[in-house]
Amino acid sequence: MRVARRPSRPDLVPAALLAALLICCTPPAAVNNPADPAPADATDLYYLPYETGRASIVLQGHFGPFSHEQSYALDFQMPRGTPILAARRGIVSAVRDDCPDCSCVWDSDCACCGFANRVEITHADGSRAIYAHLDPGGVLVAVGQPVEARDMIGLSGSTGYSAAPHLHFEVRAPLGPALPAEATGRFGPSSDGTLEVRFEDVAGDGVPRMLRVYWSGGRASAAGG
Ligand SMILES: [Zn+2]
Repeated sequence: MRVARRPSRPDLVPAALLAALLICCTPPAAVNNPADPAPADATDLYYLPYETGRASIVLQGHFGPFSHEQSYALDFQMPRGTPILAARRGIVSAVRDDCPDCSCVWDSDCACCGFANRVEITHADGSRAIYAHLDPGGVLVAVGQPVEARDMIGLSGSTGYSAAPHLHFEVRAPLGPALPAEATGRFGPSSDGTLEVRFEDVAGDGVPRMLRVYWSGGRASAAGG
């Protein structure tokens, strides 16, 4: 498992990229998800954080050039109000959904920046998944609540430092003996790092890539990618 230090600035999907995607581009080759169902009692497995059969393009991947330069993080494009599912079993450890429906990218008066509305889920190994930029009032779980992988936890939005509706997803953990040595290699010492995780329903090595489309839950893709 590789680790990077926590991101130093909030999330951003540049308008130019979004415009290019929405206006001029045919969706890129899709990625099939032929993964077999995982054991029901598995606690360390990740699944794409949206409903089975739904497709999403990755607007920005790990170490993406816009706002993920120093982190393992993923931006999944999706309309506002899209159900967000827990990627992995855990306990809800933090929530926020009182940020108004404004974007710090477009509105200088928007006081709620960064991840804004979000859910944080702590896993059995101490790592924490963050689901960010949710809709106002879009948190559907409470702190202390146990959740299974693929339980619905919130509704997507575009709050905070977000240029267009999407879900920002990352997994963090404190750096220390439990994490590999390279955690302090590329970026220097840090008190908190982001982890590269692999999804059971992403074909190949399980790592989503920028500008590719992924179907949650193993539905076959038309492109056969
Ligand atoms: Zn992001």
